Amino acid sequence: MDRIYSPWRSQYIESFNEEKKEECFLCGAIHSVNENKERLIIARESHCIVLLNKYPYNSGHTLVVPLHHISDLDDLTTDELVAVMATTKKVVSAMKDAFHPHGFNIGINIGQSAGAGLPGHLHFHIVPRWNGDANFTATISDMKVISTAMENTRLALIEKMNDSHL
Ligand SMILES: [Zn+2]
Repeated sequence: MDRIYSPWRSQYIESFNEEKKEECFLCGAIHSVNENKERLIIARESHCIVLLNKYPYNSGHTLVVPLHHISDLDDLTTDELVAVMATTKKVVSAMKDAFHPHGFNIGINIGQSAGAGLPGHLHFHIVPRWNGDANFTATISDMKVISTAMENTRLALIEKMNDSHL
């Protein structure tokens, strides 16, 4: 993944050690009820959930997360693997409809040395990319602006994900 300058990620790095002691925030999101907005959840599928990354590399940065707290691809069942990829495809399609990105980075960081922010719970990153977006993100460092933009992004993706069920 390209290194995009994301000032708000320093907050994430700083909070990492504290978060490790608490319940995994992805499990927290999976087990939450009626907290979709607060938890940035876009969709709940049979084997995974879809949510916005609270500390995005880029606008629209989304995570597809298996329901089980597992750290490695080896631990995913074939059904889960298929479901995660099918969901990823659906999210990409919804992003194309909603935001018309020029490209995508899609991937997994396995292990802390590979840059996994939460090494205990496997998750797939989907990052939409636009020509020149590195310049765009550098100008958006106000957390309030980001929260508003993220809620709009979440609602747009929910709408497009629901369209794809028809
Ligand atoms: Zn977890």
